[in-house]
Amino acid sequence: MCIFCKIVAKEIPSNAVAENEEFYAFHDINPKAPVHVLVIPKAHFDSFKEIPGDVMGRMSTFMQETAKTLGIDESGYRIISNIGEDGGQEVKHLHFHLLGGAKLKWGHFADADPKDFI
Ligand code: 5GP
Ligand code: ZN
Repeated sequence: MCIFCKIVAKEIPSNAVAENEEFYAFHDINPKAPVHVLVIPKAHFDSFKEIPGDVMGRMSTFMQETAKTLGIDESGYRIISNIGEDGGQEVKHLHFHLLGGAKLKWGHFADADPKDFI
């Protein structure tokens, strides 16, 4: 069982934000912003590549509600899902990072000079 499936099964403790029968939102153990919450489907999908559109639709609604619960709906936030090797995905159970609570910086995402990509 993967680490996030163990969190869903409560074999590993986590700090809950919101939950329904299909999805779970909990605080990231290593926050990178004042609000850093992970949103996952309770069912295991390896990454965003595997999630069916209807489940993604319901997950979008759940993330919108979670942002309201966190009090960042008006101030704004960022949603990120890292996918695979180049995406930097460490945990192979689909998750969205929900980040906010401060004005977020916008990065430089690769080591190469962006001009080299054009
Ligand atoms: P990824 O790099 O796969 O997109 O992000 C994985 C995230 O999961 C990281 O931000 C990391 O801090 C978080 N994380 C890893 N293990 C645990 C855990 O056991 N509990 C919680 N709450 N977060 C975790
Ligand atoms: Zn899993």
